[in-house]
Amino acid sequence: MGTAEPAHPEEVARLGGSPDSLAARLAALAEIGADPGGGLTRLAYTEPERAAHALVAGWMRRAGLAVYEDAVGNLFGRWLAPGADPEAPPVWAGSHLDTVSHGGRFDGAAGVVAALSAVERLSASRARLARPVEVVAFVGEEGSRFPGLLGSRAVALGLTQADLEARDADGIPLRDALSAWGFDPARAGEAHRPPGSVSAYLELHIEQGPVLERAGFAVGLVTGIAGPLELEGEVVGRADHAGTTPMDERRDSLLAVAELALCAERLARESSPQTVATVGRVDVSPGAANVVPGRALFTLDLRDVDLARRDRVEARLRQAFSEILVRRGLEGSFRQLLRVDPVPVPESTRALLGRAARRAGVAYLELPSGAAHDAMLMARLCPAGMIFVRSLGGRSHAPDEETREGDLLAGTEVLFEALRELAGDAELPPG
Ligand SMILES: [Zn+2]
Repeated sequence: MGTAEPAHPEEVARLGGSPDSLAARLAALAEIGADPGGGLTRLAYTEPERAAHALVAGWMRRAGLAVYEDAVGNLFGRWLAPGADPEAPPVWAGSHLDTVSHGGRFDGAAGVVAALSAVERLSASRARLARPVEVVAFVGEEGSRFPGLLGSRAVALGLTQADLEARDADGIPLRDALSAWGFDPARAGEAHRPPGSVSAYLELHIEQGPVLERAGFAVGLVTGIAGPLELEGEVVGRADHAGTTPMDERRDSLLAVAELALCAERLARESSPQTVATVGRVDVSPGAANVVPGRALFTLDLRDVDLARRDRVEARLRQAFSEILVRRGLEGSFRQLLRVDPVPVPESTRALLGRAARRAGVAYLELPSGAAHDAMLMARLCPAGMIFVRSLGGRSHAPDEETREGDLLAGTEVLFEALRELAGDAELPPG
């Protein structure tokens, strides 16, 4: 694995593209971790993710970039234009190469391939840049094996001991997975970058939703990233005989969860189109057809790009939960699993991306991101912006995830123009 050549030249020929085209590179990446039944699986710190990194590293080298990895396996390709200051904090652009189980070929990979293509254009245009530009592929963005956003977390915040002890479904801790890739877990902290060490981060990503397609835009500029709040709730009632217990004498834990789920739907709908609430998992026990559910465990996921609005909905949900429990004679509690504040994209970065889109001649829609991305954590380190490209049917995290090459090219044009400006291109026209 890890050849510098695209995996399947005949696939490239079929696409009618050059081996360096976006589509050809995405097709080559899609061969790695391909599932026999469709889709692809490249989980964090597995052999397929490693092979995807190796393939991209080969392309980076061929493009004249200096390739390096940090202490947790994030992959970098550095372009230092002639005359650029090697000491200046670089601009980063990229995304991730891991996928969910049976995922698609565009989530993450599109952003890495687009960033490489944009930097190749910078290099070919002999742009006079003031600072270095680095293409980055973050390791372990999806939370499908370990908790997500691992690579960007390591860079922006540093991994904690608790992060390193997180275990996958087979009980393998992250520290062992790091070792298996040849990295020393004791040195994971070295991936943490100090403030000021990166001048800006840009990420092109597929939208993974239907908004751009519905509005008729190929490209979107992200206004902010919704922060997820994840709660785990428990309701304790009483397990009783389903045949002999009258309806008015039951303490049914599941019905309280059902009520709360409907309440969450109503509150989110009333709050804003950007508020979403999901009860995604319910486990009832004893879990038998002929027993009233005595105990229910459930998750509640609440997201918004506006923190105050999310806080209001959370407060009303907690209030509703208490009322439901009292009315039904049940006990219950919430435990917080995850609380991430929404991340607004800075006004200056949004303006810069808008100028880039106008120079590129690409019409765009401004929209929030409902999903978490590496950019969310990079925003803790430096100004971070995101370019969305249209997802057909809004489908993602599934084998039928699809984005047209033309849309990817339009997004890559915007990325190229934005990188030019961020890297201080001396030839850039004013305005
Ligand atoms: Zn992604």
